[in-house]
Amino acid sequence: MKKVILLLFLGCNVLVFAQSKNINQKVEALLRQMTLEEKIGQLNQYTGDNAATGPITINPNKQTEIKQGLIGSMLNILGTKYTRQYQELAMQSRLKIPLLFGQDVIHGYKTTFPIPLAEAASWDLEAMELTARIAATEAAAAGIHWTFAPMVDISRDPRWGRVMEGAGEDTYLGSKIAYARVKGFQGNLGDVTSVMACVKHFAAYGAAVGGRDYNSVDMSNRMLWETYLPPFKAALDAGAATFMNSFNDLNGIPATGNAYLQRDILKGKWNFKGFVVSDWGSIGEMVNHGFAKDNKEAALAAITAGSDMDMESNAYRYHLAQLVKEKKVPMALIDDAVKRILRKKFELGLFDDPFKFNNEEREQKALCNPEHRKVARAMAAKSIVLLKNEKGILPLSKSTKTIAFIGPLVKEYKQNMGFWSVELPELDYTKEIVSQWDGLQNKVGKNTQLLYAKGCDIEGDNKEGFAEAIAVANQADVVILSIGERRDQSGEAKSRSNLRLPGVQEELVKAIQATGKPVVVLINAGRPLIFNWTADQVPAILYTWWLGSEAGNAIADVLFGDYNPSGKLPMSFPREEGQIPIYYNHFNTGRPAPNETATNYVSAYIDLKNSPKFPFGYGLSYTTFNYSDLQLSKKVMKKNETITVSFTLTNTGKFDGEEVVQLYLKDQVGSVVRPVKELRDFQKVFLKAGASQKITFTIDKEKLAFYNAKLEWAPEPGGFEVQLGSSSADIRLKDSFELIF
Ligand code: BGC
Repeated sequence: MKKVILLLFLGCNVLVFAQSKNINQKVEALLRQMTLEEKIGQLNQYTGDNAATGPITINPNKQTEIKQGLIGSMLNILGTKYTRQYQELAMQSRLKIPLLFGQDVIHGYKTTFPIPLAEAASWDLEAMELTARIAATEAAAAGIHWTFAPMVDISRDPRWGRVMEGAGEDTYLGSKIAYARVKGFQGNLGDVTSVMACVKHFAAYGAAVGGRDYNSVDMSNRMLWETYLPPFKAALDAGAATFMNSFNDLNGIPATGNAYLQRDILKGKWNFKGFVVSDWGSIGEMVNHGFAKDNKEAALAAITAGSDMDMESNAYRYHLAQLVKEKKVPMALIDDAVKRILRKKFELGLFDDPFKFNNEEREQKALCNPEHRKVARAMAAKSIVLLKNEKGILPLSKSTKTIAFIGPLVKEYKQNMGFWSVELPELDYTKEIVSQWDGLQNKVGKNTQLLYAKGCDIEGDNKEGFAEAIAVANQADVVILSIGERRDQSGEAKSRSNLRLPGVQEELVKAIQATGKPVVVLINAGRPLIFNWTADQVPAILYTWWLGSEAGNAIADVLFGDYNPSGKLPMSFPREEGQIPIYYNHFNTGRPAPNETATNYVSAYIDLKNSPKFPFGYGLSYTTFNYSDLQLSKKVMKKNETITVSFTLTNTGKFDGEEVVQLYLKDQVGSVVRPVKELRDFQKVFLKAGASQKITFTIDKEKLAFYNAKLEWAPEPGGFEVQLGSSSADIRLKDSFELIF
């Protein structure tokens, strides 16, 4: 049996090897036929003219350029009909090299899933892989070959609007999610339900100074390697076909012109065989950075540093040929970039059939698949985080007589999609999105009366609607208040210095709370917000982020207990902006504060606690979980051994539910200062009410390793504390062991 498996394994590898050899030969053969202009054409990517409006009229200049083979890829063309139109032009070019169609399919194509940060709160890797799979299926059916996702940038700064697009602050969780998302998007690359992933933004974009988008990043190499690079490596290990570089400079060198990042690390040490696309206009922006005198110098810096494709700068298109003629850019560099791109076009099968992704019947079917909506609803429910539930207000009883649903987001449709959603031109979004109001209506029976008042707008200082909202609240048995950001307040170029609920929304909460009615607040946002009064005074709070197409149904599922919330925060929620950057795995200091009130010459604020309002990993359930009986298989571990950590988890409440059990390690002493704790494993476990289960984790040397004083990834002998808990700040069980060499 073993032999058969081995032979099969070898057989498969031989096949893969033969295929790739075959592709390499085809690429070489094609390259030999290409003029310099045609080669540079492959490195050139433009946006479509009709991103979100139809019908399409292709700009005549672009038509000519495509027919001349001067464009290798297009982005922002939606739908199989339109991508076909463009591809037909490419088929009129001399060498008939197919175009690649890229698109930001970040959290769904037609079916919109929760924003990535919300999905990360589910800690459910399989579920995230599945939503990426479905997004890919829909996008591929619409003629798209390539998504500019996942964004794997770690960020510890909720002022940065793009936190909505990532997996939060933690490197371990972020790496697992990066891996799952790449697997999901790429499926079986080459078939018509898969798209290439593009891992972005390489690198350290999430650490922009002050949380201001596009700002500089200045960080130590250790921090880069230990905290910011691992999710990229995980995505690469999952087989990511492409990478995108980044707008920011890293320690003075713009990422787009950064040879250390792209040549030394990505294509060197990590042996990445795919291609790197620049970010939008980022080659040209090196002029603004003051790193290049003009677009020509920028093109030289970018190609030299390893950026293969130019998105929208026109720098390669107009300057590379001249740079080659002047012998500033060796032909080998151009050839390498072209080959990387052509290889992907062959791997996708586009040379066999450039229209293989263009099938209107398949598009129709994929975009209307009811299964996708079911997954969207389940994912949305899993993404919700229960922040507070006093007096057992939640779940609501289905026999509640009168419910007041109040707030500026109750009857919104598109808002629920959040930022970075694909907007298809011909869709009526009042039919595509289940609003929160519609979701509640779908849920309650005819004996429940629903009342509505808007109360106020998301922004502005108008309180005229308060009186009506109070009147409506007074007639109800329970009030649900839906407030938050506008969906375009978190996203690219949406940095905020003030993270409070916009406008007079928190005043509305105060006014409604003053009625004395039981209040449940839903907070919709793309980032951690600050809402201290609400957090302290209102008995029940659900953080609902932006949940996508099925938002309303999923919220209703959670409100009434048809789904028991299981989300855990993937980012720390600050008490005040002044604490930012705030993250659970900060380093040990020489003067740790012994408690939350100590301020005397310890590392603390004299006017604020150190702890966040809600910590990383935090989230409640309608049930409760007990952790007991921790056992370590040994107290002394040799370097190549493993330790088994086990304990019993018991559902001690009245509801069935899921718990995300989190394993943190603390390395007691290191050759460099180490974090106070680090997430090193987790499991999401479902338990029926009253049930118990033995949970087991295995610790090996990989889980103990870090970048030591010599910047080598290795464990060091010494003591480690094992912590198991329900959040980074709610550790239930602890023990320790010794690593010896
Ligand atoms: C963003 C990228 C995105 C690209 C294409 C840029 O502004 O930074 O993440 O993929 O636009 O839309």
